[in-house]
Amino acid sequence: MAKIQMTTPLVEMDGDEMTRILWQDIKDVLLTPYIDLKTEYYDLGLPERDKTGDQVTVDSAEATKKYGVAVKCATITPNAQRVEEYKLHQMWKSPNGTIRAILDGTVFRAPIMVKGISPVVKNWKKPITIARHAYGDVYKATEYRVPAKGKAELVFTDESGAETFRQTVYDFECPGVLQGQYNKDTSIRSFARACFQYAVDTRQDLWFATKDTISKKYDHTFKDVFQEVFDAEYKAKFDELGIEYFYTLIDDAVARVIRSEGGYIWACKNYDGDVMSDMVSTAFGSLAMMTSVLVSPDGKYEYEAAHGTVTRHYYKYLKGEKTSTNPMATIFAWTGALRKRGELDSLPELVNFADQLEAACITTIESGTMTGDLAGLWEGKHPAKAVDSHTFLEAIRDQLDKNLAQ
Ligand code: NAD
Repeated sequence: MAKIQMTTPLVEMDGDEMTRILWQDIKDVLLTPYIDLKTEYYDLGLPERDKTGDQVTVDSAEATKKYGVAVKCATITPNAQRVEEYKLHQMWKSPNGTIRAILDGTVFRAPIMVKGISPVVKNWKKPITIARHAYGDVYKATEYRVPAKGKAELVFTDESGAETFRQTVYDFECPGVLQGQYNKDTSIRSFARACFQYAVDTRQDLWFATKDTISKKYDHTFKDVFQEVFDAEYKAKFDELGIEYFYTLIDDAVARVIRSEGGYIWACKNYDGDVMSDMVSTAFGSLAMMTSVLVSPDGKYEYEAAHGTVTRHYYKYLKGEKTSTNPMATIFAWTGALRKRGELDSLPELVNFADQLEAACITTIESGTMTGDLAGLWEGKHPAKAVDSHTFLEAIRDQLDKNLAQ
């Protein structure tokens, strides 16, 4: 069978530890036998980041701007212990943070669902995709531990130095706490665009919620900016696709999410997204089944797994043991990127391959063959057969060959 040809390279960002081992195995077993894989390769493994003074991370993000689609392996974000372990020149910043800052992107996380592993919330039938605004609010707040009696004020001085606003926050009669938060219209607008664009791309409704009844300026600005962007740029497209933009209060949103069937994108302010993405991913079952894509407002995409480098398994691997590390989210990062490349370059064969590979992964699990982490959650009819990662990839390949032969 002739291999599927690509016209534009994917930006390939390699990573660390167990996921780096899986990365190569996935390519060898499931990709290169079928596709004439074109990638521009960047090694984001920690040794190479250290060697290049982290320039390789910046270069990979710039390449994503140029080509439009990237696929990333999980990477180590160094802490003090990693500096020691890898004898690093410096405690390099999180590659994801660096890439996100360069692309000005929003992260969308969605679970991979299979029959036999049911969400804790029993009425969730379809994935819920969470989009988190990763800028400002409490994460960039200025805080003060108020030591004693005194007055706290909010003051704004404009560019010319003129004081244009002053208001008492509180007249403290005793010690307390104080916090100043901010956000920017430009960042909120980028976030809104990325969310509407992703809703169009994936043909799903978009939900957004804040607490604008209480926060009449701060949260209300989020609500207004979303509505402006929607009316001016997306309403017609949403109508055409038959999808909906739905705004409500955050407490109402939480109640509706729990009662819903799923199948929509839930856009969250920074803190809400931090909390809700963990709740939603836990309720769907497993971190190893959570995919993630960074979308920039000008339509650049970086696909990855939501989980980390699975360090514990890597140490076993180094001792020569076989591990049963779940490759699903990393495979889906590849299929997401290949499908997007296929759509942008009008290569229906590549899009079809991505669909077929995802279907083969799901069928394999639903027939009872899976990695150890899933076997523990399994409620399917046949007993679960827990296998090591490589055997699991081979089972997916056998299923894929069957599907492609039909
Ligand atoms: P982790 O996601 O690697 O592991 C967390 C837990 O989930 C572990 O118990 C692990 O065994 C389990 N797990 C996760 N993915 C799994 C899989 N595919 N199969 C089976 N079990 C799986 O997170 P961690 O242990 O907190 O961090 C390990 C390293 O990963 C750290 O150095 C961290 O900086 C990095 N990290 C990277 C990213 C990223 O690149 N996006 C995200 C998170 C953590």
